[in-house]
Amino acid sequence: MNPKTICLDFDGVIHRYDSGWEGADQISDLPVEGAIEGLHRLCDDPEIEVVIHSARSAQPGGITAMKEWLEYWEGVWREHNHIALTDGRWLTERCQFPKNKPAAIVYINDRGINFDGDWSQITTELKNYKPWNQ
Ligand SMILES: [Mg+2]
Repeated sequence: MNPKTICLDFDGVIHRYDSGWEGADQISDLPVEGAIEGLHRLCDDPEIEVVIHSARSAQPGGITAMKEWLEYWEGVWREHNHIALTDGRWLTERCQFPKNKPAAIVYINDRGINFDGDWSQITTELKNYKPWNQ
């Protein structure tokens, strides 16, 4: 079986990012609702390889901060839902955290326009664009 790599953005997809940019190693906000459970579902799928990549990834302390944040909130989620660490592996061990943007079959990002082959509406789409949380 060939796992398909999907690349997840961190800020605005996993982390709510309400406070905006405070530094690569500063992550202050809550998870996006359902993010921890959703990551579990993705990581449990043997056909999917989950890669988390952010603007933080190439900066000093960024990857460590994302891993520590994710481990903390996974712990909170496990405790709240009475879900034991049955396979002995945290999400941080099941996801990859590369420094550089990886090749992937799909990128999941809170800031993007899905290009459908039609350039004629791009300017209008850009001008009307708003991320989900604004
Ligand atoms: Mg983002």
